[in-house]
Amino acid sequence: MTLSRVHWLRSGNSTDDRILAYAGRELARYLGKLTAVRPAVQGAEQIVAQPGVAWLGVCDTMPAPPAAALTPAAWDDGYAMWAEKDALHIAGRNSRSVLFGVYTFLERQGVRFVRPGPAGEVIPAIAELRLPPAPVVETPHYRHRGVCIEGATSLAHALGMVDWCAKRRLNTVFLQFVHSRYFYNQWYERSYNPQHAGRSLSDEEALAFDDQVIAAMKRRGLVFHRVGHGWTSAAFGMLRSGWVKETTPVPPDKIRWLAEVAGERKLFGGIPINTELCYSFQPAFDAFVETVTRYCETHPELDVVHVWLSDAANNKCECTECRKLTISDWYAQLINVLSDALHRRAPQTRFVFLAYIELLWPPEQVRILEGPRGVDGRPDNAILMFAPIRRCFNHALADPACDDGKQWPRPALNQFDVSRQNAFFVEALAAWCKAFRGDSFDFDYHLMWAVWRQLTDTAIARVLHEDLQSLKRMGLDGLISCQSFRAFYPSGLAMAALAESLWQPDRSWETVRETYMKAAFGEDAAAAGDYLRGIEPYLAVGDPHDRTLPLADADAQTLTSCAGFLRTSLTDLRARQKAAADPVRRLSLALLIHHGRLLQQIVASRQARLAGDLQAAHRALDAAADLLCRAEPRFSPYLDTMLALRLSVEAHRPT
Ligand SMILES: [Zn+2]
Ligand SMILES: [Zn+2]
Repeated sequence: MTLSRVHWLRSGNSTDDRILAYAGRELARYLGKLTAVRPAVQGAEQIVAQPGVAWLGVCDTMPAPPAAALTPAAWDDGYAMWAEKDALHIAGRNSRSVLFGVYTFLERQGVRFVRPGPAGEVIPAIAELRLPPAPVVETPHYRHRGVCIEGATSLAHALGMVDWCAKRRLNTVFLQFVHSRYFYNQWYERSYNPQHAGRSLSDEEALAFDDQVIAAMKRRGLVFHRVGHGWTSAAFGMLRSGWVKETTPVPPDKIRWLAEVAGERKLFGGIPINTELCYSFQPAFDAFVETVTRYCETHPELDVVHVWLSDAANNKCECTECRKLTISDWYAQLINVLSDALHRRAPQTRFVFLAYIELLWPPEQVRILEGPRGVDGRPDNAILMFAPIRRCFNHALADPACDDGKQWPRPALNQFDVSRQNAFFVEALAAWCKAFRGDSFDFDYHLMWAVWRQLTDTAIARVLHEDLQSLKRMGLDGLISCQSFRAFYPSGLAMAALAESLWQPDRSWETVRETYMKAAFGEDAAAAGDYLRGIEPYLAVGDPHDRTLPLADADAQTLTSCAGFLRTSLTDLRARQKAAADPVRRLSLALLIHHGRLLQQIVASRQARLAGDLQAAHRALDAAADLLCRAEPRFSPYLDTMLALRLSVEAHRPT
């Protein structure tokens, strides 16, 4: 059948109507590509039964789906789609979910969103649309599903990521700091790839870019998170967006506000955002809360503000008054006061507090007053974010094999030490879940460093999938992945696992893997799978917690065997790439071929090292770096060259 018109039902809310109109246009645009018939799109007041029409709307304006009913919810997603008398109906729990429903309908027609941008979209030509034979109702397993900006990012990369998130039903994008200049400039200044170096963006230019990214999120109804670190120094007048060293002195009247460490009150390591406050000093405490609250009052576009303390350990105040409470207890006091202040002055904004470094141990004396999801009349604007930054990424969090068998009690003030294995983090989380029973999610780093260091994205994809199968049981309602927006290399499987398993984690790993490989590689899926599976044993390290570099301990025989495997695989992949008809699959194969060539140089470097020829080892790594830099113009949306250079190549440099 064909759909000749798309009608979206007016909701009575102009924000939702804009998103519904966008969902309608997206449906029409893709139907035009799929069937060569592009339907007209119009807003409508009510449903009038007609064949050949797609009706879109928030569930309270639509007829109830003939299966399970949906209830409207601003924070929780879900959609239904069904056919009735040759008309299509897509209803969502909110306008964003209607858009998710549209993309799901397109996937059911064979469309695949493999990577950001048109070069990542498989759109088959079809003769007939397939309406759902039975009503479909889908709700995600997790509330919070998204990504947080890191790495070297252009405006185009960020816009591409926002668009891809919506298409893969990820509902959240988090821009760190009060603007993203730090991340943009890693791209625009391109110090890692000087041939493409450009000029730095100013704060104002970064804010203007952010406005475009935020507008792209709002068009799709995505949940917008912002800030994180920086509030401690903003409170004493040094608002900074990044880990920058400060050259100007702290104003003399603010020195008393700074944490006293080893007898001194000064910037910690010279970096404002790494500097703590003396929370027992009331003016500093009040300024922290007031700075956050005032920011939220003047930024109504913000859905969730991240209110983190400094980004450093062993920098907490040692004064007599501060010593009376742990840093987590001081944080709990801030949370209580801030929750009230935001409830009164910026009720549209929720806030995230962060459990990591010294804050992994929950408060002992101060009770966080918020009840679960607004029970007891308290506002439910606080969200716990658990960030196990020093965890092991070779095991899932809940894997009992990842346990050092030691006790890790709260460290003494400014003597922070923590397990690198996951059993501790699971215990710490359980303790936090007793201290705070409200909304929560995991902030995690699979795709920040491990994915580049491991030299493949397929091993970490499996760990990510396993984590997502158990986060809810551990007390967390989702995950925001702290990562480069350019992490679709070499296969894109880890990004697919993130999106798929946040929505529906109960599918087996093999199903997730095979579904993605087919989407990305089409009829070459088996060959691509053979390559990715074949390379993994060479990259696995002897230490089960993955502390050494891949190939670092490989003997000469293993390196020869790996080089042989790469040579044979590349011959096969190149032939397939040449023959592939579909440009998206051709690009998928090109990324694998690039990866194989990169590994050839890493292996050559290791071989030279074993032979005692350090110069040749350096030359091979130079060639690896050159491969990455030269490919950047072509592969930049999928491969973060800066992080790959640092963690996949330079980490192997002989010293
Ligand atoms: Zn103090
Ligand atoms: Zn481990």
